[in-house]
Amino acid sequence: MTEFQTKFASLIKNHHNEIIEFIQSAIRLPSLANNEGPVQELIAKKLSSFDLHVDHVPVHFETIKEHPAFCDDGFSPDSRYNILGNWQNNGNGKSLILNGHVDVVPTGPEENWSESPWSGSVKKNKIYGRGACDMKAGLIAGIYAVKILKESGFKPNGNVQIQSVVGEESGGCGTLTNIVKGYTADGAIILEPTSMSICPIQSGALTFRITINGRATHAATRWEGISAIEKFEPVHQAILDLEKDRHKLFRVNYYENTDRVAPINIGTIHSGDWHSTVPGKLTAEGRLGVFPGESAEEARNTLEDAIKKIAAKDSWLKNSPPVLKWIDGQYESGKTPVEHPLVKTLTACHESVSHKRAKLKGVTYGSDLRLFTNYAKIPAVLYGPGDVRTAHSANEYVQIQDVMKSVEVIANFIVQWCGGQFE
Ligand SMILES: [Zn+2]
Repeated sequence: MTEFQTKFASLIKNHHNEIIEFIQSAIRLPSLANNEGPVQELIAKKLSSFDLHVDHVPVHFETIKEHPAFCDDGFSPDSRYNILGNWQNNGNGKSLILNGHVDVVPTGPEENWSESPWSGSVKKNKIYGRGACDMKAGLIAGIYAVKILKESGFKPNGNVQIQSVVGEESGGCGTLTNIVKGYTADGAIILEPTSMSICPIQSGALTFRITINGRATHAATRWEGISAIEKFEPVHQAILDLEKDRHKLFRVNYYENTDRVAPINIGTIHSGDWHSTVPGKLTAEGRLGVFPGESAEEARNTLEDAIKKIAAKDSWLKNSPPVLKWIDGQYESGKTPVEHPLVKTLTACHESVSHKRAKLKGVTYGSDLRLFTNYAKIPAVLYGPGDVRTAHSANEYVQIQDVMKSVEVIANFIVQWCGGQFE
């Protein structure tokens, strides 16, 4: 360990309880989409107390609605804003964005939780609550990395910007606003829960609705009608086949399972309104995974073609084809080359702090990474404490040890990436 690494480790120990308490107070402010205000104020105060220059960036759909990556989550009141904490330096080194979202997903039935989802309680070295892992702990790890660097007397050459954003879970309006307003850097770390794996590649996800029209009639003469449910069956099978075929076509590295990179899921089916009526209509909604490197349009075309093909084979569907519509969230895939210095430097810092080999991974879920890589042309990587499998679930938690390690890795990363001196 170098001298500064030892110094960071001891500073983190000094702040151990303070870091936990701050994560707890952030969890205790429920920040569902459109309710991010109180937690943003908490973050803003903390950043100011660390002598960072704080900006409030209003998130108004007026400024982003023409952008091709815009997803409307239905909330654009005047009260919604991102918080930026700027550590301005001499600007001669590489600059860095540390990005995290404060919005959380709904809790689900509270009886599935052992305690209130907003308890922030600590048990057996874990902090519990909605948003613990996804991703208040990650964001706060980034904030404290800056804090301990400042306390250690380090002055980076490059600028560091902490971005505490809203609206990630519902489409990314927060990060998109920052991008449209021109906030940029030489690299970005998004502190999502990756179990501290280094994830520069993510699949995308597109949501769709299929409507099948049949012909309703009385069940007693069901042969006179056309059941929309029966007509959906071959369409569903074609979708399952498409998922398999697509995984044969795409060779993707860095995923744990190369046959589970871009799943296609049918999530809802609605059909029929009476047991003794042949159902005349069916609507099914689902999610189509997008492979890294594949455009959203290419992915859409494959599903459209598969449905056209199967419809052409059916005597009813060829004249009354299924109607496919793209609805709600449209998340492209995103990618930073694994040999990029951002990935290499983070890998080296992770390994020197944890004394373990870093895992390089692609992830199957959507995140703000795509906005950085595809639109702002900022190389970006997901990296942070917490296991994504506990995210969005009851009894969500984050391991305290992982939070502290993340603070240390990020602090070391800033030294390597931005360059600078100790005073
Ligand atoms: Zn998240």
